[in-house]
Amino acid sequence: MLFNLHTHTHFCDGSDHPEEYVRQALDKGLSILGFSGHAPVPFDNNFAIPSKTKLLEYVRTVEKLKQKYAGQITIMLALEIDFIPGLTESFDSFREMAGLDYTIGSVHLVKNLENNRLWFIDGAKTDAYDHGLQDVFENDAKKAVTAYYRQINTMIINERPRIVGHLDKIKMHNKGRHFTENDLWYRDLVLSTIDVIKQNNCIVEVNTRGKYKGRSDSFFPDGWVLGSLINDDIPLTISTDAHTPEEMTLGYSEASRYLKEKGCKKIYIPHGDSIKSLPLT
Ligand SMILES: [Zn+2]
Ligand SMILES: [Zn+2]
Repeated sequence: MLFNLHTHTHFCDGSDHPEEYVRQALDKGLSILGFSGHAPVPFDNNFAIPSKTKLLEYVRTVEKLKQKYAGQITIMLALEIDFIPGLTESFDSFREMAGLDYTIGSVHLVKNLENNRLWFIDGAKTDAYDHGLQDVFENDAKKAVTAYYRQINTMIINERPRIVGHLDKIKMHNKGRHFTENDLWYRDLVLSTIDVIKQNNCIVEVNTRGKYKGRSDSFFPDGWVLGSLINDDIPLTISTDAHTPEEMTLGYSEASRYLKEKGCKKIYIPHGDSIKSLPLT
């Protein structure tokens, strides 16, 4: 059974109208397609749904597609919501506004609580990552990465996302230069985050985007981090974070094979206020 719970359309930084994604999903034989536009954020940016008005249009569009394609594919309405302490709106306000089937909680901008500035860790450019680390955290990688994982922990505890988005994306542009995933302090940060995930019953996605975009040689998460999640029985899902219809299933089979090799037998999806398991195929 194929599904994808993490997709971006032209309502945010994706390429096409949602219906193009539905057509592609049907072509590829998906049973479930979740739309997870970037929720609006209160500052200038080029990735999020730009306004509340646009958000309501996004909601109406996805709700219409749910009805139009009922019986052919299960369509779910979601948002990928940024969490930045003291800045972003609560996940509950989006839940109330949009009647979401689930939320993906993600950190793309890390706040330095001492100077209130933001470090953008995503995007295509390693230069921007390096400059941000220098400008916002004076090149103190341990401090910056600690702020990243603390922000994720606070998000999970305060906002209760159903899915944690690309857990260790902080590694994407690092490529072993400022820190390594085997540094003891890094391990401690990740392990304490996994504890928080476990206590709050979140699903963690295995996100294939970094790999198929050539920005990362591993999934988010991968390596020992993924191993720890599996050992701790954290429910996992696979998503491609598609920004075009063509990216709908990129890396899915590879991730699914990989998880099976690591001993996973089930995969999880949101289901009402809870989660449900599916066989990993
Ligand atoms: Zn994201
Ligand atoms: Zn995304």
